[in-house]
Amino acid sequence: MFSKHVDKEFSAYCQGELSAAESRQVAEHLIGCHRCRAEFEEVKLGVKLAEHLPQIAAPDSLWNELQPFIAARTEHGGAGETKRSRFGSLFQPRFAAIAATTALAIGFTAFWLYTRDARPFWEVARIDGAPRIGSARIGDKGKLALGQWLETDSGSRARIDVGTIGQVEIDPNTRVRLLQTKPTEHRLELARGRMSARIWAPPKLFFVDTPSGVAADLGCAYTLEVDDAGGSLLRVTSGWVALQLRDRESMVPAGAACATRPGIGPGTPYFEDASESFRVALTRLDFDPKAAPDLKTGPLDVLLAEARVRDTLTLWHLLARLDSKHRARVFEAMAALVPPPDGVTRDGVLQLNEQMLQLWKDELVKRWSDDSGLRKAGIKVWTQGLGKINGWQGKK
Ligand SMILES: [Zn+2]
Repeated sequence: MFSKHVDKEFSAYCQGELSAAESRQVAEHLIGCHRCRAEFEEVKLGVKLAEHLPQIAAPDSLWNELQPFIAARTEHGGAGETKRSRFGSLFQPRFAAIAATTALAIGFTAFWLYTRDARPFWEVARIDGAPRIGSARIGDKGKLALGQWLETDSGSRARIDVGTIGQVEIDPNTRVRLLQTKPTEHRLELARGRMSARIWAPPKLFFVDTPSGVAADLGCAYTLEVDDAGGSLLRVTSGWVALQLRDRESMVPAGAACATRPGIGPGTPYFEDASESFRVALTRLDFDPKAAPDLKTGPLDVLLAEARVRDTLTLWHLLARLDSKHRARVFEAMAALVPPPDGVTRDGVLQLNEQMLQLWKDELVKRWSDDSGLRKAGIKVWTQGLGKINGWQGKK
């Protein structure tokens, strides 16, 4: 991973001038660095805005109006001009018109540079059986154009190349449609069935719409499954995925999963090695209408009693989803597992101070990976011993 910020790499990165390894390093840095990610989002937003601006020729009257303005600027521009008058001129409508026109021109140029290599379709390769694009069976290769459906029956599987940013494998009995493919956004719709994605692109370029939530890739590998009722299950194997519906968002790291339901959206993410009773209680809390809101105490009791250090992933998300009374209980349980770092106070967390929540999450993330590292090394006994010291439950 780059130890320094990567904003200087954005241009080369967006134009595909970095090696695959360097691109991946930029993507990884973006996942972890809020500063660079914010800047990258701005770059991306600028490109998106430019896309939506209609291209209109400037009317002659605009040029006529600009003439005296430009002449005046030339006359008393230079040494005599004060900062104040320059600042003031920014707010003149005519100056705003020039600025807007210039911004448009820059936007279009940037967009053209950024999109000239865009492909209007994705390549599809047959893995097994006879996948179909529209109503036609494909041979060993096919092309999935915008708006087209790719469908597999019980005996077929296919692989899609997502431009140059990744690959998606389509399992049997699955229906997917290509909704968008351009450098700022690649989007599939998964109507039913299961797909696995491996994406090596900057965060939030690849999206999958399901009937009950949108999976936004943050540099990752994952599987996504949609059942006949429109519910979905996301399982992340590397990196992070954000599951979104309207203003609700779940951030799901490697080793964790998250379900969605029609009409509700994403539930709360959980590590798949959490205890069964923890997972059952979480499903009730997220999706059982009878469990909300007054009867939430039941499943919440189970969650707080069963939570290990890793399960602070789940508890952290619950902070913003429960009312203040239940939030206070979650805070106490979390603080016992991973004390809040400097700068994070009980009051701040209970008031959902965004910066404090982020600081605490950064601290928690380190502890989740420690835990998984220990698990991989097979030092389970040791972690259980440590669990007692740290207030772990020592449960699988
Ligand atoms: Zn950075």
